[in-house]
Amino acid sequence: MNVRRAPAAAGAPDAQERSLQGELRRFWRALALALSLLLVSIAASAAYSQLVVQPRSVLTTAVVKQLRLLHEGMLDQETSLRAYAATGNPAFLAPYSAGATETNRAEDELIGLVSGDPTETRMVVATILAHRAWASSWAGEGLAVRPGQPMETGKLSAYLARGKTLFDRYRAAQHVAADRAAARRDAALASQRKALLTAGAVNVLVVAGIFVVGVRRRRQLGTVIDAPVRALLDMMSRMEAGELGVQAPGLGPSEFRRLGEGLSSMARRIEAQQARGMVREEAASQLAARLRVILRVARETAGSLDPRLVAEYVAAAAVELGRTRAVVWERRADGEFVAIRRSTDPSGALPPAGLVAPPAVAMAAAEARSVTQGTMTCFPLVVRGAVVGVMEVEAEAWDDEDTAQVDSVLEALALSAASALEAARLHASVTEQARLDGLTGLRNRRSLEEEAAHEWSRSRRYDRPLSVCMIDLDHFKRINDTAGHAIGDEWLRRTADAVAAGLRGSDLAYRYGGEELVVMLPETSADAAMIVAERMRAAIEAVVGPAEYPHVTASVGVATLSYAMRDVNELLAAADTALYAAKTAGRNRVVAAEQSVLLTPSGSRAG
Ligand code: GH3
Ligand code: MG
Ligand code: MG
Repeated sequence: MNVRRAPAAAGAPDAQERSLQGELRRFWRALALALSLLLVSIAASAAYSQLVVQPRSVLTTAVVKQLRLLHEGMLDQETSLRAYAATGNPAFLAPYSAGATETNRAEDELIGLVSGDPTETRMVVATILAHRAWASSWAGEGLAVRPGQPMETGKLSAYLARGKTLFDRYRAAQHVAADRAAARRDAALASQRKALLTAGAVNVLVVAGIFVVGVRRRRQLGTVIDAPVRALLDMMSRMEAGELGVQAPGLGPSEFRRLGEGLSSMARRIEAQQARGMVREEAASQLAARLRVILRVARETAGSLDPRLVAEYVAAAAVELGRTRAVVWERRADGEFVAIRRSTDPSGALPPAGLVAPPAVAMAAAEARSVTQGTMTCFPLVVRGAVVGVMEVEAEAWDDEDTAQVDSVLEALALSAASALEAARLHASVTEQARLDGLTGLRNRRSLEEEAAHEWSRSRRYDRPLSVCMIDLDHFKRINDTAGHAIGDEWLRRTADAVAAGLRGSDLAYRYGGEELVVMLPETSADAAMIVAERMRAAIEAVVGPAEYPHVTASVGVATLSYAMRDVNELLAAADTALYAAKTAGRNRVVAAEQSVLLTPSGSRAG
């Protein structure tokens, strides 16, 4: 199926290729990246504080503390020695020992602590050295005092003064070192604060970034989803309203575009189904209309007794069913096909006698099924297994589906036409039989009564001549009496054939009764009728009959229509009178009526 896509939005061709899943993935990726940044920032600031700032501040704090302990221990030693030197009382030496232990421990600690900063190391070492200088020279001298023998006053003063000098020297070094350590500790604490502040600021920035990115992505997702969802909803409501030719909007992520394409292809399928339904409905109503035509033709032809009228209805119906031309061919007893109706002929006009059936007609009849050749189709008209005719139809334009339907309807028409045609043909043949004489095959007396009146009025109306010959075989009784009735019958047949053979197409021959024949000669004057009559008489005389009775003659009375006559019976009576005159005159002759009228004014034959 050909799915049309909306053109990609100008300037953003890749936007068309984005999927909703991709959009969400990008959103989560951005969020994860921002959170990772935040974590890294927090971890970095914590690590800096823990690994760099914290140890340094701890170290410097410890240095300050040990310097203080060293100083406190030394103060204890100094105080103790001054008292001991002045009193010689060993009890005063106890604080000295404790102070010495304290200072030794503080010195050990300091040596272990100072390693980071060379200046500070140098200062601490100077402090320790100053303390050692004091301890080795001044403290040693004080400890040398014997218990119970204090220093003399003069020596003591010098001793104390020297101690003060050394102590001041130590004190100055200790100050410098303590200040340096305190300054480093403060700097470490300050840089820790700074690091924490920086990390805090970075975190705030990262959080703000996350927020901004989040808001932007959300807005982007909104635009990516919102427009296509609206377009799809609009599309669905238009479909709901019956607008099935609606196109997919082709907007947004691939999922939405696929959804839109699915919807519009579904709409197209529904539309196609609806169209098919309508076509089927139309075809059904067309079929119903066509079947009504068949029904009407069946009704019209059911009672028809004329094959030509049946053919006329059938040909008209074929044209009404959409064929351009139709011919109804009747199959005669000799197997020949004769066109009895053409839709193209003016109403009622018979198709020309010489019309030759196309080969498809004979083929359809031979195979008893419809045969199509080019634009022509021939349907055999079959009754009880016998082909009585063929309906030939011509189509102008072919539409496979419609042709198939019309053909099947025409089959039905052919079926109904066949039985109607056969019934009319049967009726016509029965009627024809009833009009004929069984022995001679000539028209019978009943036909004469009907047709003579018709010919009479036609000739009267158009003022045309009309003559009648009345023929009677001479001494026919003798044939029966001598040769037998069967021979008599045979003579009747042979004379009838001889008479009929000499007539024109418009002349009509009748067996009037017994061995009397009447011949009606339309458009024939009295003189011409005499010639015809004489020819008939001669023809009868020339007939060679059965050996038992080989020759017969006939007498003929001829009458021609005149203004004095009131009806056809008078014409026939005049001919009869002329016949009587011929008999009277010696038989085997022709007599015209005028002469006989003179002979027998009454107009009737005696005897
Ligand atoms: P004519 O007319 O010359 O005066 O003598 P005719 O012997 O022919 O006399 P008519 O015409 O009066 O006789 C009619 C005879 O024709 C009587 C009958 O025997 C014979 N006939 C009439 N109808 C038939 C028929 O159908 N078959 C046969 N075999 N004979 C018939
Ligand atoms: Mg006779
Ligand atoms: Mg007779």
